[in-house]
Amino acid sequence: MGRLKTSVDRPANNPGQRMKTLVVEDTRISLKLVCHHLERMGIAPIAAENGARAVELFVAEQPDMVLLDIVLPDIDGFEVARRIRQAEKPGDWTPILFLTSMTDDEALEKGIAAGGDDYLYKPVSDVVLGAKIRAMQRIIQMRNSLLVMTRKLDIANQELRRLTSLDGLTGIANRRHFQETLDREWRRSMRKGSEFSILMCDVDGFKAFNDTLGHQAGDECLRRVAQALAGAMVRGGDFVARYGGEEFAAILPDTPLAGALVVAERMRGAIRALDIEHPKSESGLLTMSFGAASGVGMPEAEAMGLVKLADKALYEAKHLGRDRVCVRSSMDPIESTES
Ligand code: GH3
Ligand code: MG
Ligand code: MG
Ligand code: MG
Repeated sequence: MGRLKTSVDRPANNPGQRMKTLVVEDTRISLKLVCHHLERMGIAPIAAENGARAVELFVAEQPDMVLLDIVLPDIDGFEVARRIRQAEKPGDWTPILFLTSMTDDEALEKGIAAGGDDYLYKPVSDVVLGAKIRAMQRIIQMRNSLLVMTRKLDIANQELRRLTSLDGLTGIANRRHFQETLDREWRRSMRKGSEFSILMCDVDGFKAFNDTLGHQAGDECLRRVAQALAGAMVRGGDFVARYGGEEFAAILPDTPLAGALVVAERMRGAIRALDIEHPKSESGLLTMSFGAASGVGMPEAEAMGLVKLADKALYEAKHLGRDRVCVRSSMDPIESTES
C-alpha cells in the first residue's frame, strides 16, 4: 500500500509536517533558487548536489516528491531515477520531475522512460513549479483513493470467497468447497503417491425426524450434527463439508482405510454423544451411517470415483441396519472393474 501523500501542508505520511521535496541539482545557484521557491510554497526542500547523495537522501528522508537534474557530476539523473524506483517499497510511488534545459528534448524522453513523471525547464519559474506540484498532488490523491478502493475491494472479495465456500445452514464448508478440496487433494495424492480417504456420512431416518418433530427441529439438529462431525476431525488437513440435505462428506489426506475407519467411528460416537432424541429410531437416539473409501490419485481415474465408492459403502451401512461404518478400498480388484 502506498504512503498517503495528500496536501502541501500536511502529507499523510508525516502528518503535521510540511511536504518534503528532494531537490537534486549540481549547479549551486539553480539549487538555491529552486529550494527558495519551494520554501515560499511551504514545502521543505532537501538538497542533494550529486546522484549518489540523492539516492541516499531519498531512502533516509522518504520525500513526497523529487526534482531531478539530468546532468550530474557522478551518476546521471536517469540512473538516479532508476535507483529511486528500485528503492521504493512495492506499491509506493514518489513523483519524479526532471529538471531540464530547453534544448535536450531527447534527454527528456529518456528521463520519462527511466521512471520520471514530468519535467520542468530551467531556470525554474515560480508559477510553473507551483502549478506542476499541484498537478502532481492531484495525481497522488487520485492514486491514493484508487489504492484505498482496491484494498476495500480485495477485502470484500476475500469475504465473498469465504461466504461462497460455506454452507448457509450449518456454517461448515459447502459442496463447492468440498469439490475444490477433493480435486486439490487428488492431485496432491497423485504427486506424492499417498493414500487418502473419503467418508460419506448420512443421518439415519431423518425424514421421520422432520416429520415428527418439525423442520425447524430438523435444521437445528443438522447444525449440531455438523459441529459434532467437525469436532471429531483432529488432524490439520482433515476436512468436512455438508454435501447436501442430511449428508456430509469428509476428506482425510494421507490416511489409509484403517485410519478412515477410526475417524468414522469417532464421528459416529460424537453423533450418539449429542444425545439427540429420535422418536422413530430403535435406540431412541439420533444416529448416523458412514461409508469410507480410500485410494491413491491416478491420472486415469477420477476423484469422484472414490466418492462413489464411499457412497456404496454408505449404502451398505444403511442396508445392514444403520448406525455403523462400512468400508471399501479402491485397491480391491472387484471395485476397480466396477463402474
Ligand atoms: P436413511 O436412514 O435411509 O438415510 O433415511 P432418511 O429419512 O434420512 O433419508 P431420506 O433421504 O429419505 O430423507 C432425507 C430427509 O432429510 C429428507 C428431508 O426431510 C430431510 N432434509 C434434507 N435436508 C434438510 C434440511 O436442510 N433441513 C431439514 N430440516 N431437513 C432436511
Ligand atoms: Mg546539472
Ligand atoms: Mg438419511
Ligand atoms: Mg440422504
